[in-house]
Amino acid sequence: MNNKLIFEKSSPGRKTGYFPDSGISLAQAQELLGKDYVRRDLPLPSLGELEVVRHYTNLSRMNFSVDSNFYPLGSCTMKYNPKINEALSSLEGFTNIHPYQNEDGVQGALEIIYNLEEMLREITGMRRFSFQASSGAQGEFTGMLMIKKYHETSGNKKTKVIVPDSSHGTNPATASMCGYETVVVKSTRDGLIDLDELKKVVDGHTAGIMLTNPNTIGLFEENILEVGRLIHEQGGLLYYDGANFNALLGVTKTSLMGFDVVHLNLHKTFSTPHGCGGPGAGAVGVTEKLVDFLPAPVVEKKDGTFYLNHKIKNSIGRVRGFYGNFTVLVRAYAYLLRLGREGILRVSQNAVLNASYIREKLKDYYELASTLPCMHEVVFSCEKQAQKGARVMDIAKRLIDYGIHPPTIYFPLIVKEALMVEPTETESKATIDYFIEAMLEINKEIDANPDSVRNAPHSTCIKRPDEVKAARQPDLRYRY
Ligand SMILES: *Cc1c(COP(=O)(O)O)cnc(C)c1O
Repeated sequence: MNNKLIFEKSSPGRKTGYFPDSGISLAQAQELLGKDYVRRDLPLPSLGELEVVRHYTNLSRMNFSVDSNFYPLGSCTMKYNPKINEALSSLEGFTNIHPYQNEDGVQGALEIIYNLEEMLREITGMRRFSFQASSGAQGEFTGMLMIKKYHETSGNKKTKVIVPDSSHGTNPATASMCGYETVVVKSTRDGLIDLDELKKVVDGHTAGIMLTNPNTIGLFEENILEVGRLIHEQGGLLYYDGANFNALLGVTKTSLMGFDVVHLNLHKTFSTPHGCGGPGAGAVGVTEKLVDFLPAPVVEKKDGTFYLNHKIKNSIGRVRGFYGNFTVLVRAYAYLLRLGREGILRVSQNAVLNASYIREKLKDYYELASTLPCMHEVVFSCEKQAQKGARVMDIAKRLIDYGIHPPTIYFPLIVKEALMVEPTETESKATIDYFIEAMLEINKEIDANPDSVRNAPHSTCIKRPDEVKAARQPDLRYRY
């Protein structure tokens, strides 16, 4: 029975019977909507309520989620999202308000946006934030548009944006979408940005650099101040990809590191369920120099009243309708209020501790991508295992049999057979020990029986779909 689509389970005449007659005749509907828009026949499956409930419950149980299993997907921060955030963000006062409502009727919502901005200003040291962008990538686009407009209004002739070779793919994509040439700068053998290489490419045409710190190898860019000096000296600006800010909360600030713009993925670091393209929020923070370029409106406060300021002198305009994904902001606000100043620091301390613990326990078995200490994630290179017959893809698939979501693999691109593990701060030592144990067993298995690892997973109904084909020609039936 499970092996069927809901359409195949359909049987004529079965129904849930919830929908009363609309009371509108066909003729009336045709007159209202126009003949072409009235459907005569709607081929929906006919099932009873219980069958529908079972169908979807069983499908949902085939999902891998943070709520069901350990999910150490690097660069994604799949931390536990406290359920209280869900409860609070679904309060009627938040879900039933309308973006066209008068400001005096939505003071509470405006206050939350205002207060969240204050908190993020404190965390990053930036001057102002915009919450319009719905994702990290869109946050990058917003930030780079501001940098572009800043140069245009200052009369600077800028043509290129520098990105390190370890950068997240969205960085060069953003730079090109903003009309810049992307220039890639190499990393040192230890995975940091190479200052000598950087000096070769920075010049008066440099609009800016897009960096993430910790970088995608999980390392703190030790020379960040020198990088900033080199770029600023040529009139360029520094963009901080803060999609994963999990290592530095309460430890340091993007302003202290010399950055002019930052985006934070509220859906990663500040706990909103994410993945599969659900709603997110790329909060974009800027220093004083870029405040006049923010997307309008921003929330301001005067005499105890909150209002929307649409008059921003050189605003790049809107990047999205209304004020962003508001309930994602509510979740981030609830998360921050609950943790407080000390809690937020402990998030980062534990995130780094957990990744470092995995690094220490596995480093004699899986080669490290860098000898430098890791921050909130650790990158291994599984080349040695690949030579023995099991590539990192096989190792990742074998972890599924242990009930563990595969870590990120083959990224960053500069690490061969890369395995990028981000345990996050919300996991217990017992869970992390279980992961370490699984990795050690898989390593042993590669020596004894590499075929078994190569043929993994053994415990799932789907083994190894052709990922490209699965996306383009989905076959929704699953088979045991
Ligand atoms: C996730 C991520 C992004 C993109 O964020 P989305 O919300 O998926 O668009 C950008 N940069 C880094 C480093 C990331 O980890």
